[in-house]
Amino acid sequence: MRIVICGGGIIGASTAFHLAERNVSAVVIERCSPACGASGKAGGFLAKHWCDHFEVGPLAQCSFEMHMKLSQDARFKDCDYRRLDTLSVTIEEGQKLKNGEIPEWLDGAAVKSSVIGSTADTAQVHPYKLTLAFLENASCEVKNAIVEDIVVHNGRVTGVKTSEGILEADKVVIAMGPWSDELCSKLKLCRVEAQRAHSVIFRAKPCITPHAIFVNYRKRRSRDRSPEVYPRPDGTVYISGEGDATPLPRDPRDIRQDSCDHIQQMALDICSDFTDVLQTQACYLPSVSTGLPLIGRVPNIDGLFVATGHSCWGILNAPATGKALVELMLDGKCSLLDLEPFQPKFSQ
Ligand SMILES: Cc1cc2nc3c(=O)[nH]c(=O)nc-3n(C[C@H](O)[C@H](O)[C@H](O)COP(=O)(O)OP(=O)(O)OC[C@H]3O[C@@H](n4cnc5c(N)ncnc54)[C@H](O)[C@@H]3O)c2cc1C
Repeated sequence: MRIVICGGGIIGASTAFHLAERNVSAVVIERCSPACGASGKAGGFLAKHWCDHFEVGPLAQCSFEMHMKLSQDARFKDCDYRRLDTLSVTIEEGQKLKNGEIPEWLDGAAVKSSVIGSTADTAQVHPYKLTLAFLENASCEVKNAIVEDIVVHNGRVTGVKTSEGILEADKVVIAMGPWSDELCSKLKLCRVEAQRAHSVIFRAKPCITPHAIFVNYRKRRSRDRSPEVYPRPDGTVYISGEGDATPLPRDPRDIRQDSCDHIQQMALDICSDFTDVLQTQACYLPSVSTGLPLIGRVPNIDGLFVATGHSCWGILNAPATGKALVELMLDGKCSLLDLEPFQPKFSQ
């Protein structure tokens, strides 16, 4: 069986890995380099129960458990997985919290703090390392080409049209994150939207404890902001800013990166040690107006599948998405979880 996966982000990579676990190899078509989009630039925060009140809850719970199992597998030992305590911290003018009320390294203007997660149900992983580990252990071919269209004959997928020619296939998965929209739109499926977000990686001192910090930032007469702070086991700290509406470029290499000064300013107000910037970056979140990812068969075209629109939980939900999709492709049904809420539908 010839299976082609369009897109070498974490969703395509996890699908290729779970196919290999069933002794099926795939070809992954990637326009730039694996994990060059959000999958290589995300925070990597994982929460087991934060989606419980939404239809995506069972997917998140299942995937959280899968991350834990992957971390115990020698093939994924270098992906920087660890359990974390998680706090919500408010930074504004006012009476600073005393030592002992928050981790010592939060020496900025924190006035309020509450526990919102513990090592029982929050964790982190390095998204770039995990995406590459999925691909390395997938025994798949990663082909550098641009996916241009899906080739369909008599209601069946027969291949993928790429910049290098037609690649024949019996089954095709569209997993190009926000760039899936061009194909979804041609197929008249619900649209995949894209939202840009910046982040900054700092070098950290060894005293930084494993706490994920969700910040309510209300200082310097700026509008309220909500940076997320993730210290990593590799001696760095990742801080994300919020999204904006800058349109998605066709080529991921053309993603424009604006100033990250506001993130650096907030970082200093959180911890005076956050001065040594290692990297500033921008990438795009893929999302669907229903708030749910698209995972499943494309209606009316045999052999064509979609997995995209995972919004801010694509790293968390990648393992279960890949495994569920593989069950659907190879067994004709998914026993891991109910995929009905994520079934791709035609746009209204
Ligand atoms: C700032 C930020 C922080 C985040 N933090 C977290 C977090 O802490 N936890 C979490 O769970 N999630 C997080 N996310 C969400 C997560 O990063 C995404 O949901 C996930 O990475 C999407 O993966 P993907 O594989 O669908 O898409 P992408 O990573 O965008 O991959 C798509 C791939 O397709 C390729 N491609 C595009 N066009 C073509 C083409 N025509 N032909 C061939 N290949 C093509 C691209 O080059 C790219 O490699 C965050 C996202 C952002 C933006």
